[in-house]
Amino acid sequence: MDVEPKMGCAFEVRAETEAEVMRIAGEHGKIVHKMTSMPPDMAAKVKSAIKTVTVNV
Ligand SMILES: [Zn+2]
Repeated sequence: MDVEPKMGCAFEVRAETEAEVMRIAGEHGKIVHKMTSMPPDMAAKVKSAIKTVTVNV
């Protein structure tokens, strides 16, 4: 998942749910990019970058 190509950031996240992906992406923005909150256009980019991977166990 490449959510911030302009910043040259190759951040990837794997999580069980979309909510978890958004939470981790928000934390990443806060820590790495000093963003206090995720702008709506960024949230839309993150959501559109989410891929569902099926795992057979
Ligand atoms: Zn980043």
